[in-house]
Amino acid sequence: MANIKNILFEQFGYSHFRMGQREVIDSLLTGQHTLAMLPTGTGKSLCYQLPAYVLSGSVIIVSPLLSLMQDQVEQLKMRGEKNVIAINSFLTFTEKNDVFSRLHHYRFIFLSPEMLMNQAVIQALQKIRIALFVVDEAHCISQWGHDFRPDYRLLGQVREKLGHPLTLALTATATAEVRKDILHYLHIEEVKEWVFSVDRPNIAMVVEPCSSRMEKLERMCELVSELEKPGIVYFSSRRGAEEGADWLKRSGIQRTAFYHGGMVQEDRILIQQQFLHDELEVICATSAFGMGVNKGNIRFVIHHQPPAQLESYLQEIGRAGRDGNRSLAVLLYTPGDEEFHAMIMEAEFPTDWQITNYFLYQPHHPREEIVKMLGLSDVQYRFIHHYATEVEGSHQDEKVRFIIEHRERRLKQKKQKIDSMLQWVGSERCRREGVLKFFGERAYQLPDPCCDICGVHSSDFYGLKNSAQKEESNDWEALLASLLNIKG
Ligand code: ADP
Repeated sequence: MANIKNILFEQFGYSHFRMGQREVIDSLLTGQHTLAMLPTGTGKSLCYQLPAYVLSGSVIIVSPLLSLMQDQVEQLKMRGEKNVIAINSFLTFTEKNDVFSRLHHYRFIFLSPEMLMNQAVIQALQKIRIALFVVDEAHCISQWGHDFRPDYRLLGQVREKLGHPLTLALTATATAEVRKDILHYLHIEEVKEWVFSVDRPNIAMVVEPCSSRMEKLERMCELVSELEKPGIVYFSSRRGAEEGADWLKRSGIQRTAFYHGGMVQEDRILIQQQFLHDELEVICATSAFGMGVNKGNIRFVIHHQPPAQLESYLQEIGRAGRDGNRSLAVLLYTPGDEEFHAMIMEAEFPTDWQITNYFLYQPHHPREEIVKMLGLSDVQYRFIHHYATEVEGSHQDEKVRFIIEHRERRLKQKKQKIDSMLQWVGSERCRREGVLKFFGERAYQLPDPCCDICGVHSSDFYGLKNSAQKEESNDWEALLASLLNIKG
């Protein structure tokens, strides 16, 4: 076998593997399908990037987000890898044809799951030698996971069409239940599982109760101005993110911007780039921000409201401290914050009326018309469409019942997730132990600083730089006061 430590150094410039990388790479190089759960920021991408230089053939990477894909492509190109392509809807017809005719030249081929539903894409892939099939953010396959994408469900069939290539499923946060789903839906029977702790010991966790909306906004501004930056503040709504950025600006923090899924793609890319290049210090964002944001020095993540589940919380705070340095996660909680999630959750799913009427229009009208006539959101449409195709062939009433049953089940699951998030917020036991327990782990050794329950206070993290500046300015003020003989 090639000397992989040499490849690590020559190709990537690293002298050591990080936790888990070696194990995952070895298991792939010995031909075993592998499920790897490595905490955010440890360097999951290397687990498929390095084998690409050992195995023969192309590495296919299925990725849930265009921005994430683009990011990975850029990184590889910056490393000097030319044979990399992202096949997405941005490619024109001629570009696509050109790419397909030279597909075997690419060492890395990034694709969205939607693209893999396209017959022409599958046919092109069937003609090349696939060294490795990678499912990034594999938890998206499970409805128990925090980011369910129905299209991920069909990846098992895609694997079959491609002749069961060697497969790597990657995720940062997946409970045992989600991991079981990943294997089930990918149609993998024998697998090597590498599950590393989800714990990020360099991130201290603090929950701070706030009695009102106003108190919370003021506290958020105080935290942002005192804590060492850069940082991210997560809001549960788009409007909240916009207002948050506005508040910060008005309290003197100028290098801040908001980011959410309602913005046009160019603006989103611009904000992300400005943050990556330290032109912006603070991003007020919804959960749309962060997947694949590869910035090492994020010093804090504040949640203005609890997310709808602990998995998302962990994923979001995991964007801090990728450089391994001390970082802080603060969750601000006002009773009633959860009502927003309950509201959103209801609106995410189609109503009985929409489900029933879908079948009146379905075979005869195009998607756009159905969506318009029934007032369906994109998510609602995809929900109905997905389950409708799962029960193809059965009677219409049965289909409706089937979809309604699934909707009820999903609603119940989501509610349970919110409840366990809130239980964690209200708990008086160590936060870290709580998170680990949720993922079926035990905390063997708690770091110091650990969490608010273990005695950490957010002010322990107030930036050294800030306090130095303050002292300086105080001195300066004192000096001026004494010169002008002003009494303080
Ligand atoms: P994630 O696990 O969150 O997907 P990435 O794969 O994006 O993480 O990697 C995070 C960062 O760690 C990247 O900047 C990457 O270059 C760096 N990295 C990965 N492996 C190593 C290593 N063995 N030594 C040093 N840096 C590494």
